[in-house]
Amino acid sequence: MHLPLLIFSLIISLAFCQVSLAQIGPNLGQTDQWMKAAKAAIERNDYETANSIFRNLIDSGQPLPEEMPYLFAETLFELKQYDNSANFLNKYLELTGFTGSHYKGAQELQLRLETPLSEMQQCQLCDRRGYRYKTCFTCEGERQIEQECNYCKAKGVVGCSRCSGSGMVTRMNIFKIVEYFECDRCAGKGRLTCPVCEGSLKEVSSCQTCNGSGKLSSEEICSHEGEIHEH
Ligand SMILES: [Zn+2]
Ligand SMILES: [Zn+2]
Ligand SMILES: [Zn+2]
Ligand SMILES: [Zn+2]
Repeated sequence: MHLPLLIFSLIISLAFCQVSLAQIGPNLGQTDQWMKAAKAAIERNDYETANSIFRNLIDSGQPLPEEMPYLFAETLFELKQYDNSANFLNKYLELTGFTGSHYKGAQELQLRLETPLSEMQQCQLCDRRGYRYKTCFTCEGERQIEQECNYCKAKGVVGCSRCSGSGMVTRMNIFKIVEYFECDRCAGKGRLTCPVCEGSLKEVSSCQTCNGSGKLSSEEICSHEGEIHEH
């Protein structure tokens, strides 16, 4: 989940907590005005305006009117933000149950959401929120990237562990005399070819930017057609 979205959801949860406390804020007049303006915008099919009014309302931290999540869900549906629409619709049903003044409309919206939500789930071109994937700019869709070998710090060799890099090993002979031998592991060189990059100095590892998926979500709503865009 995107960080801004996470923060956004947190703000929403906080706003709903206030609703449950049923506090009537001093700025109720302002909230009423915004709700009126948002409804008027919906009447004239100006969902962009309704969307920004609802977002202002959420940002204001004022208690949200009971019908707000439903109207916002309808607005988001029209803007093709189906996942977000379903979230607000569920919130509305959760808060009002069968008693909401828009219960019937909410049920109808639930039905209308079924097709777009299932299209989104089946589509390989978008994330589960319906946002189009774009090719990862770091790995260019390759899922992995070649970087300098971290194990040998791009030197291509590592110190031999058997001889501690000296190239010589000691052994006690039967006369209890210490004898020196050339280390057979590194052939007396004290160094070994890096076992990770095998001397290529490069290491191929999973792309960190896209977590090895080769793609990233964009801000563009998916049409569920075509191919993944380059960048
Ligand atoms: Zn990547
Ligand atoms: Zn050695
Ligand atoms: Zn290496
Ligand atoms: Zn799609």
